[in-house]
Amino acid sequence: MNAYLERLNWANDARNCEPDAAPVLYLDDGTEVPLPTRWAVCSVCEGKGTHVNPSIDCDGLTAEDFADDPDFAEDYMAGTYDQTCNRCKGRTTERVVDLDKMPADQRAAYEKQCREDAQQRAEERSEYLRGA
Ligand SMILES: [Zn+2]
Repeated sequence: MNAYLERLNWANDARNCEPDAAPVLYLDDGTEVPLPTRWAVCSVCEGKGTHVNPSIDCDGLTAEDFADDPDFAEDYMAGTYDQTCNRCKGRTTERVVDLDKMPADQRAAYEKQCREDAQQRAEERSEYLRGA
Protein backbone atom coordinates (compact mmCIF):
# COMPACT_ATOMS: atom_id res chain seq x y z
CA MET A 1 0.00 0.00 0.00
CA ASN A 2 2.79 2.43 0.84
CA ALA A 3 4.46 1.77 -2.51
CA TYR A 4 1.16 2.50 -4.26
CA LEU A 5 0.74 5.77 -2.33
CA GLU A 6 4.31 6.79 -3.13
CA ARG A 7 3.68 6.17 -6.84
CA LEU A 8 0.38 8.08 -6.61
CA ASN A 9 2.07 11.04 -4.91
CA TRP A 10 4.85 11.04 -7.50
CA ALA A 11 2.41 10.82 -10.43
CA ASN A 12 0.22 13.63 -9.05
CA ASP A 13 3.08 16.04 -8.34
CA ALA A 14 3.33 18.65 -11.12
CA ARG A 15 7.04 19.11 -10.39
CA ASN A 16 7.71 15.66 -11.84
CA CYS A 17 7.38 16.83 -15.41
CA GLU A 18 9.18 17.09 -18.70
CA PRO A 19 11.00 20.35 -19.50
CA ASP A 20 9.16 22.93 -21.59
CA ALA A 21 9.50 22.13 -25.30
CA ALA A 22 8.20 23.66 -28.50
CA PRO A 23 4.81 22.05 -29.20
CA VAL A 24 4.37 20.36 -32.55
CA LEU A 25 1.53 18.79 -34.48
CA TYR A 26 2.36 15.29 -35.70
CA LEU A 27 0.81 14.62 -39.10
CA ASP A 28 -0.07 11.12 -40.32
CA ASP A 29 2.79 11.21 -42.86
CA GLY A 30 5.33 11.74 -40.06
CA THR A 31 5.72 15.46 -40.63
CA GLU A 32 6.07 17.63 -37.52
CA VAL A 33 4.42 21.05 -37.81
CA PRO A 34 5.56 23.70 -35.30
CA LEU A 35 2.59 25.29 -33.55
CA PRO A 36 2.11 28.98 -32.72
CA THR A 37 2.87 29.70 -29.08
CA ARG A 38 2.78 32.47 -26.54
CA TRP A 39 4.64 32.73 -23.26
CA ALA A 40 2.80 32.19 -20.01
CA VAL A 41 3.83 32.10 -16.37
CA CYS A 42 5.25 28.66 -15.61
CA SER A 43 2.47 26.36 -14.43
CA VAL A 44 4.81 24.38 -12.18
CA CYS A 45 6.77 27.03 -10.25
CA GLU A 46 4.21 29.81 -10.83
CA GLY A 47 6.94 32.18 -11.99
CA LYS A 48 9.43 31.60 -9.21
CA GLY A 49 11.91 29.66 -11.35
CA THR A 50 12.59 27.20 -8.55
CA HIS A 51 10.71 24.72 -6.41
CA VAL A 52 11.49 22.31 -3.61
CA ASN A 53 13.10 19.12 -4.88
CA PRO A 54 10.08 16.77 -5.09
CA SER A 55 12.11 13.92 -3.63
CA ILE A 56 12.13 15.91 -0.36
CA ASP A 57 8.40 16.52 0.08
CA CYS A 58 6.55 14.73 -2.73
CA ASP A 59 5.11 12.29 -0.19
CA GLY A 60 4.09 15.15 2.07
CA LEU A 61 5.53 16.51 5.28
CA THR A 62 3.85 16.79 8.64
CA ALA A 63 4.26 19.15 11.55
CA GLU A 64 6.03 16.30 13.31
CA ASP A 65 8.64 16.14 10.53
CA PHE A 66 9.57 19.73 11.34
CA ALA A 67 9.12 19.42 15.12
CA ASP A 68 11.33 16.33 15.27
CA ASP A 69 14.08 17.99 13.23
CA PRO A 70 14.23 21.78 13.66
CA ASP A 71 17.38 22.00 11.51
CA PHE A 72 15.52 20.33 8.65
CA ALA A 73 12.60 22.72 9.15
CA GLU A 74 14.91 25.74 9.07
CA ASP A 75 16.74 24.51 5.96
CA TYR A 76 13.46 23.64 4.25
CA MET A 77 12.02 27.10 4.88
CA ALA A 78 15.29 28.77 3.85
CA GLY A 79 15.18 27.08 0.45
CA THR A 80 18.09 24.72 1.00
CA TYR A 81 16.17 21.98 -0.82
CA ASP A 82 15.02 24.19 -3.69
CA GLN A 83 16.12 23.35 -7.21
CA THR A 84 15.75 24.93 -10.63
CA CYS A 85 12.22 24.35 -11.91
CA ASN A 86 11.86 21.11 -13.85
CA ARG A 87 9.48 22.73 -16.37
CA CYS A 88 10.88 26.18 -17.17
CA LYS A 89 14.51 25.53 -16.15
CA GLY A 90 14.50 28.82 -14.22
CA ARG A 91 13.09 30.99 -17.04
CA THR A 92 9.85 31.47 -15.02
CA THR A 93 7.73 31.17 -18.17
CA GLU A 94 6.77 28.36 -20.49
CA ARG A 95 5.45 28.09 -24.04
CA VAL A 96 1.76 27.39 -24.42
CA VAL A 97 -0.03 26.74 -27.68
CA ASP A 98 -1.80 29.86 -28.95
CA LEU A 99 -5.09 28.45 -30.19
CA ASP A 100 -6.21 31.86 -31.50
CA LYS A 101 -3.37 31.87 -34.06
CA MET A 102 -4.18 28.42 -35.45
CA PRO A 103 -6.22 27.84 -38.62
CA ALA A 104 -9.41 25.85 -37.92
CA ASP A 105 -8.19 22.65 -39.60
CA GLN A 106 -4.90 22.74 -37.68
CA ARG A 107 -6.74 23.41 -34.45
CA ALA A 108 -9.06 20.44 -35.01
CA ALA A 109 -6.06 18.18 -35.70
CA TYR A 110 -4.28 19.54 -32.62
CA GLU A 111 -7.33 18.94 -30.42
CA LYS A 112 -7.50 15.35 -31.73
CA GLN A 113 -3.81 14.92 -30.94
CA CYS A 114 -4.37 16.30 -27.42
CA ARG A 115 -7.19 13.81 -26.80
CA GLU A 116 -5.00 10.93 -28.01
CA ASP A 117 -2.06 12.15 -25.89
CA ALA A 118 -4.31 12.40 -22.82
CA GLN A 119 -5.57 8.86 -23.39
CA GLN A 120 -1.98 7.61 -23.78
CA ARG A 121 -0.86 9.40 -20.60
CA ALA A 122 -3.86 7.99 -18.68
CA GLU A 123 -2.94 4.46 -19.78
CA GLU A 124 0.73 4.98 -18.86
CA ARG A 125 -0.25 6.48 -15.51
CA SER A 126 -2.54 3.55 -14.78
CA GLU A 127 0.26 1.08 -15.57
CA TYR A 128 2.68 3.08 -13.42
CA LEU A 129 0.27 3.15 -10.47
CA ARG A 130 -0.19 -0.61 -10.71
CA GLY A 131 3.58 -0.96 -10.56
CA ALA A 132 3.80 -2.40 -14.07
ZN1 LIG B 1 8.94 26.95 -13.67
